[in-house]
Amino acid sequence: KANERESLYLVNEFANTYFQKTLHKTDPGKAIGLSYFKERGFTEETIKKFNLGYSLDEWEAFTNEAIKKGYKLEYLERTGLTIVKEEKRFDRFKGRVMFPIQSMSGRVLGFGGRILTNDKKAAKYLNSPESDIYHKSKVLYGIYHAKQSIAKEDNCYLVEGYTDVIQLHQSGIKNVVSSSGTALTPEQIRLINRLTKNITVLFDGDAAGLRASLRGIDLILEQGMNVKVCTFPEGDDPDSFAKNNTLEEITLYLSEHAQDFIQFKASLLFEVSKNDPIKKAETVRDIVNSISKIPDRIKKEIYIQECARIMDISEEVLFSTLAQINKKQF
Ligand code: ATP
Ligand code: MN
Ligand code: MN
Ligand code: MN
Repeated sequence: KANERESLYLVNEFANTYFQKTLHKTDPGKAIGLSYFKERGFTEETIKKFNLGYSLDEWEAFTNEAIKKGYKLEYLERTGLTIVKEEKRFDRFKGRVMFPIQSMSGRVLGFGGRILTNDKKAAKYLNSPESDIYHKSKVLYGIYHAKQSIAKEDNCYLVEGYTDVIQLHQSGIKNVVSSSGTALTPEQIRLINRLTKNITVLFDGDAAGLRASLRGIDLILEQGMNVKVCTFPEGDDPDSFAKNNTLEEITLYLSEHAQDFIQFKASLLFEVSKNDPIKKAETVRDIVNSISKIPDRIKKEIYIQECARIMDISEEVLFSTLAQINKKQF
């Protein structure tokens, strides 16, 4: 079993090298892939640091090369790099720019691939499937390049996508990781928790799913971490914002807009429910529910006081709601 996992790693390492070579050394790689990354503002240094690559727009260019080099089809299939269908073989990432996903120690667990056309029917990003070495609920994109800075800065920025990680890193903000578009899991939070107790979640400015993602943040509170959130201007995400601003401007924006999560959520919920008593009752329960996840009793008390003020309701009511929620939990 350990041997088999090692074989999967080796296939991924080969693919990682191959996709980078394709990006830097072939004509289509340079004309399509490299110019795409350059257009996004990535420097040569950044492209190399993050091992970015390109997968040729051919059905089995990668697979054929791997087989030729002696890699077994079985392992190519099990990493998901090759799709086998009725005796036919296809490169999963055909025609995409490649983002290798590395473990804490730098091993390549899988890949994300971005499409370059505006084909609305095809998925913009495609990821490696789950395998014996890639469990997407347990990895954070960028953790290998971020871990030192996370510990040093004693804070971790959490963003939505690959390019947000890379662009911020290039700008000089290196303590940043991404859950790559999926809801944050307890295992991912534990990875960060080992390095710092402080997380700042950076949301895309499209506001899509902002309120849905708020619920996921309770998982971070549950692990006793301090959570701040920061939104970006409409139409911006951390990538575009970082691309269009200097490090000083980004740092200033973050320091001015990063807000305590509970305060942010309380204000947001109060704004949308203040004129509707029924809705307000629901949102009060919602915020107290978030507060109930915080292990530290002193913090809990402080947040109750704070939310009473923000939502214009008595502390007594909030404390008794908290007691009710606690009773239900035990
Ligand atoms: P880009 O700037 O390249 O257009 P993005 O990172 O801003 O991409 P978002 O639409 O904000 O993309 O999505 C955030 C993340 O969600 C992506 O980085 C990717 O990991 C994941 N994602 C987005 N679209 C898809 C998809 N169609 N299938 C799978 N994952 C996706
Ligand atoms: Mn988004
Ligand atoms: Mn985005
Ligand atoms: Mn983007």
